[in-house]
Amino acid sequence: MKKIGVIICSRYQNCGGGKCLKALRERAGGFSIYPPEEEVELVGYSTCGGCPGGNVEYVPEEMIKNGADTIHLATGLVVGYPPCPYIREFKEFLESKYKVKVVVGTHPIPMKYFSEHEKLPYWDKMDIRKIAPELFKENVAQMKSYD
Ligand code: SF4
Repeated sequence: MKKIGVIICSRYQNCGGGKCLKALRERAGGFSIYPPEEEVELVGYSTCGGCPGGNVEYVPEEMIKNGADTIHLATGLVVGYPPCPYIREFKEFLESKYKVKVVVGTHPIPMKYFSEHEKLPYWDKMDIRKIAPELFKENVAQMKSYD
C-alpha cells in the first residue's frame, strides 16, 4: 500500500480538504501517478505554517514516521494569487533532507483558477508546467468539475 502526506498552503488553512480527497479517490491531478488498483492511504495532512513555510521543515517527519514515502504539495500552492514562490525550494529541500518523492499537486486545477492564471504572467515565469506536469494533463470537463 502507498502512503502519502499532503502539505497545503497556509492561505487556505481553513480548507476542508474536499477537493484533495475527491481527487485522491478519482486518481486525478497530482494523484494520477497512482494506478486505480493501487491502494493509497493519506497518513498526514498539514499546512506549511504560513509564509515562508516554516512547517515544511518539520512536519514531514511525522508523515514519514507514519510510513509516507511521497509528499504532495497541494494544488493551492500553484493556483494562489500569486502562486507560492517557494514551490521549487520546498521540493528540493524535502527530497534532499527526507529522501522522499515530492509531487507538486493534489487535485486538478479548477477551471476558474486556470482561466484567470492563463491571463497572468506567474506560471510562465516559474515554468510551472515543468514543476507540476500532472496538473496540466487534465481536460476542461475535469477542471470544471473541481470549480
Ligand atoms: S505562499 Fe507558500 S509559503 Fe506562503 S503560505 Fe502559501 S505555501 Fe506557505
